[in-house]
Amino acid sequence: MPATTMDQLVSLCKRRGFIFQNADIYGGLQGVYDFGPLGVELKNNLKAAWWRSMVYERDDVEGLDAAILTHRKVLHYSGHEATFSDPLTDCKRCKQRFRADHIKDGKCPECGSTDLTEPRMFNMMFKTAVGPIEGGDNFAYLRPETAQAIFTQFKNVVDATARKAPFGIAQIGKSFRNEITPRNFIFRVREFEQMELEFFVKPGTDMEWLETWKADRIDWWIDQGLDKEKLHVHKIAKEDLAHYSKATYDLEYQFPHGLEELEGIADRTDYDLGNHTRYQDELEITAHVHENKEAEGKLALFDDEAKKWYVPWVIEPSAGVERGVLAVLTEAYAEETLPNGETRTLLKLKKHLAPVKVAVIPLKRNNAEIVKLAANIKAALMKTGVGRIMLENSGNIGKAYRRHDEIGTPICITIDFESIEKQPASVTIRNRDTMAQQRVAVSDLPAYITDFFR
Ligand code: ATP
Repeated sequence: MPATTMDQLVSLCKRRGFIFQNADIYGGLQGVYDFGPLGVELKNNLKAAWWRSMVYERDDVEGLDAAILTHRKVLHYSGHEATFSDPLTDCKRCKQRFRADHIKDGKCPECGSTDLTEPRMFNMMFKTAVGPIEGGDNFAYLRPETAQAIFTQFKNVVDATARKAPFGIAQIGKSFRNEITPRNFIFRVREFEQMELEFFVKPGTDMEWLETWKADRIDWWIDQGLDKEKLHVHKIAKEDLAHYSKATYDLEYQFPHGLEELEGIADRTDYDLGNHTRYQDELEITAHVHENKEAEGKLALFDDEAKKWYVPWVIEPSAGVERGVLAVLTEAYAEETLPNGETRTLLKLKKHLAPVKVAVIPLKRNNAEIVKLAANIKAALMKTGVGRIMLENSGNIGKAYRRHDEIGTPICITIDFESIEKQPASVTIRNRDTMAQQRVAVSDLPAYITDFFR
């Protein structure tokens, strides 16, 4: 099958209600997208899968949901104020702006001119005024990564949970970056969500944990339906590492526009906790009185064997939700030629990611008895808790199947005349991938659906 193109995805996403350009009616806010009725379900399902694997299935991770508005000092001491910048260059001929490190052979990607300005650094953090008086120091940042609140709340979480290393804090939430050139649909945007884990380990065990997390994260993406062959691990060269990192793997995926980063897995050393701790050292600490004076205010853990405090090191798997959505859509998109020559478009999404799990379709929209049975079946299936069950009363069974193939609904249930005329009542179940149909008793449906989505 030919590779999925970005045009195919953009068109499907708009047509069926997955993703829309933000402020479309005003010409669009560049680099900002809104998730529509199906997009919000897909996104929520992907986030829920991440949370389940990171928090519920493990016994060494706690969750956090911190604020987006971030105190200036946090991003000062984290190094972001000084270094979270990209090199910017302008083409003097076509007046377009680019990231200098994305330019090939010194030529403008738009018009080919070599007349470019010298690169200058551009800080990517968004600022916003806090309180009624603008100006001066009355501002906060919109966080450029969710990680910093994990570091600044480290002590509170440890005190509340009595965790010892190795353990992690997981968070999913919005991040903002004023990207110079947002592009490739939802791949590079200015407002996005991250799924980040900060996993705290004893110094010296970090490289081992980096490898463990790299392997874990690859397995997780494969579980979300990504083809192993399209995933690639890129070890970042020393000179290209972020300011906080000792070693980083970029987990790349073959997106429609090329092989690019889906997730970063970084050894952040003790850079962040260490820096925030050093700031604490500069303060007169009164608030956080600890039984061990040495640890006052420090973002540290107590080593029971060595009987001393230490700042743990951090391994960080950090994935973008939008890039994840784009990857699973790329992978799931398929066009099949049917025996009658027609083309069927479908999304072969993994069951747990499908926005709609089951479509319940009355064969005749005006037949009260058929519609009532369909509504009862929907109500009964809701109780299975497998996810969204949709009553699809459009009256055109062919169109309903086409729509649900295209949005990736794994199961369609059709209620026809036989369903109301013959006892025991039965319905037709149609499988998205095989198109196979089978007759199932209405009384067996909850068990069938529970089993199917297990
Ligand atoms: P890139 O090199 O592509 O700009 P990055 O290395 O700066 O990404 P990280 O800081 O490692 O990205 O962020 C972790 C993850 O957050 C990335 O792997 C990506 O999935 C996601 N992410 C980062 N920036 C964006 C963005 N502008 N739009 C969408 N997702 C993003």
